[in-house]
Amino acid sequence: MKNYVIIGNGAAAVGAIEGIRSVDSEGRITVISAENHHVYSRPLISYLLEGRTDEKRMLYRPEDFYEKNRAEVLFGEKAAKLDPKAKKVTLESGRALSYDSLCVATGSTPFVPPIDGLESVKNRHSFMTLDDAEALERDLDPEASVLIIGAGLIGLKCAEGILSRCKKITVCDLAPRVLSSILDGDCAALMQAHLEGLGIEFLLGDTVEKFSGKTAVMKSGKEVSFDVLVTAVGVRANVSLVKDAGGEVGRGILADSKMKTSLDDVYAAGDCAEITDMTSGEKKVMAIMPLAYIGGHCAGVNMAGGDESLENALPMNSIGFAGLHCMTAGSYVGECFEEKTERGIKRLYTKDNLLKGFIIIGDVDRAGIYTSLIRNKTPLDSLDFEILKKSPSLAPFGKAYRLEKLGGEV
Ligand SMILES: Cc1cc2nc3c(=O)[nH]c(=O)nc-3n(C[C@H](O)[C@H](O)[C@H](O)COP(=O)(O)OP(=O)(O)OC[C@H]3O[C@@H](n4cnc5c(N)ncnc54)[C@H](O)[C@@H]3O)c2cc1C
Repeated sequence: MKNYVIIGNGAAAVGAIEGIRSVDSEGRITVISAENHHVYSRPLISYLLEGRTDEKRMLYRPEDFYEKNRAEVLFGEKAAKLDPKAKKVTLESGRALSYDSLCVATGSTPFVPPIDGLESVKNRHSFMTLDDAEALERDLDPEASVLIIGAGLIGLKCAEGILSRCKKITVCDLAPRVLSSILDGDCAALMQAHLEGLGIEFLLGDTVEKFSGKTAVMKSGKEVSFDVLVTAVGVRANVSLVKDAGGEVGRGILADSKMKTSLDDVYAAGDCAEITDMTSGEKKVMAIMPLAYIGGHCAGVNMAGGDESLENALPMNSIGFAGLHCMTAGSYVGECFEEKTERGIKRLYTKDNLLKGFIIIGDVDRAGIYTSLIRNKTPLDSLDFEILKKSPSLAPFGKAYRLEKLGGEV
């Protein structure tokens, strides 16, 4: 009987468990979980603060998931050391686990910026885990002013989550625009205006130089007083177990299309892994939930002796802030088709007869069709792209394609 160990207990770990079980119903699965919670959907922590969900509805898999998959979870245990020669993982508690095949699914850790006086700030939070959200909630009150450092996805999701729970929210970022890693200037301005309309204040191109009690002194010289501070400047992939064991890492743990690392019988998946972006050919950490699951599943199948590859990974984001939706995917390279309407902005990027990426703010209906074009590498001259770029629908695809993708008569 094969002995599988998975480090981490997020979407990638669930994928790995289900991948293993799709091939091997007998082997022993042990999951090491630093967090003391049944697996939950991390993006929902802002909805929890908004009161739109609760812990029960946040579960990523039903309560009996581990039991049904015969996976033993060691809750509240942290892996401290990996010995790939002895095929052994040592926990912080001192316990050692041996494995035949290991999946590292350790996700990432919020980066806390080194700012003068930060250590002395009380009511300081990150926004990554269920415990973080609950701790933040305890510090909020209707009179509180909140300062969020970071106008990326996590900072803005946090702002949205606490909007009705405090008096004032200020978001600052060294970048000159919101969501700077996925949006260009015009699109970011549209999103910023929408969020300002909700009452969120922004200080962009500016950041905190030092803290003095409950006052943040900005680089620009401005002073912002606050009761609660959230740092959301970015995350770092948790690579140290593999790195310290001699495995290859970049920004994440390097994994091939089978999710195998450079260490024998060690796989990596999810936010801790660096894999190939099919739209650019570059190795990247693509920290999104669907990819964490798919990568984990691929790792699990291969760990159990099956054969699965992940060849079509691409960065994607689908987010909405209080009614304004935004979808992005792939690389923004090549020729750009742009459409601006009252409802928003659409930009499609094409190169070598392929759709390579897009940004859409506003009307995101059926934008998934564009994602499929990228993922399937559909040659644009095989369909009526002139129609499709204005309005995503299946009509511009040839009948054969529609039959293949949808089945039956269409
Ligand atoms: C606020 C927020 C909003 C988000 N919104 C979206 C969204 O809208 N769409 C989207 O696609 N993605 C979103 N994401 C990202 C998404 O949540 C992640 O991509 C996904 O959760 C990654 O899954 P994972 O299993 O790789 O890592 P994680 O879910 O982070 O799980 C890793 C687990 O490993 C544990 N761990 C780490 N080290 C050890 C160790 N040494 N021993 C034991 N356990 C360890 C960690 O404690 C953690 O529980 C969001 C993230 C946040 C924080």
